Amino acid sequence: MKGKPVALVTGAGFGIGRSIAIELAQSGYDIAAVDIERIEELGVDFFPIQADISLLEDHKKIIELTLSKFERIDVLVNNAGIAPDKRLDILETTPDSYDRVLSVNSRGAFFLTQRAARKMIDLVHKDPNCRPCIIFISSISADVSSPSRAEYCISKAALSQISRIFADRLSEFNINVYEVRPGIIQTRMTAAVKDKYDRQIAEGLIPQKRWGQPEDVARAVVSLAKGSFSYSTGMVVEVSGGMNIRRL
Ligand code: NAD
Repeated sequence: MKGKPVALVTGAGFGIGRSIAIELAQSGYDIAAVDIERIEELGVDFFPIQADISLLEDHKKIIELTLSKFERIDVLVNNAGIAPDKRLDILETTPDSYDRVLSVNSRGAFFLTQRAARKMIDLVHKDPNCRPCIIFISSISADVSSPSRAEYCISKAALSQISRIFADRLSEFNINVYEVRPGIIQTRMTAAVKDKYDRQIAEGLIPQKRWGQPEDVARAVVSLAKGSFSYSTGMVVEVSGGMNIRRL
């Protein structure tokens, strides 16, 4: 391959996405960094693309700008995601919040992936040694119940199935697809519920007894992107300090 491999990371401005973009850049990738907000700096070289993942017309721009800059997409990380504006009990969930959360977290990721996958297939046809991959940042909420943010949990359960089906469909092209499920990670998204999680962590909610950091997720993403799990398409990696362990 000529030049560096190229990673397209959504929601790269803050939190987990920012850390993923930095770790991938430090591991030798050129980065197309997508965010709805303007990204001023990441501390590494990157190509900024301001776009809204919930808008299908923005997807065309994202792919075209990335290809005009770098001519290829080796890794797509679907990280952009939102929480409900307000946590409401499932008996009070509003249609607006339901549509808004799903439009970014699952519908947006689905159609961006569809568009990127077509370009990755072209890339594999041109260069059969090339091994692109797609990574979805879902959440433990894909299968944990939180009745006060049902729409978020539903969006992540949908994302998990999206990951599985793309893994199945793209396997014939040697394009591997993975799902990464973060647990409770210290970012802007969890800032509003910090006290609650501080208390629950102190009381033993997480076996590894600490908040997850964006870098914990980013390191898992880099090892997937680098091909350490090349015979494991469809794999789900939980980065949650052991919250997947059922305990008595
Ligand atoms: P964050 O709010 O810190 O960062 C999210 C990023 O996505 C921001 O840069 C934001 O501007 C961007 N973004 C939001 N909507 C967008 C849109 N429509 N188009 C483009 N960019 C958009 O949140 P985070 O905690 O870093 O979350 C990143 C991902 O990890 C999300 O998918 C989230 O659901 C998931 N996650 C987070 C946690 C956690 O505890 N923080 C746990 C599990 C999963």
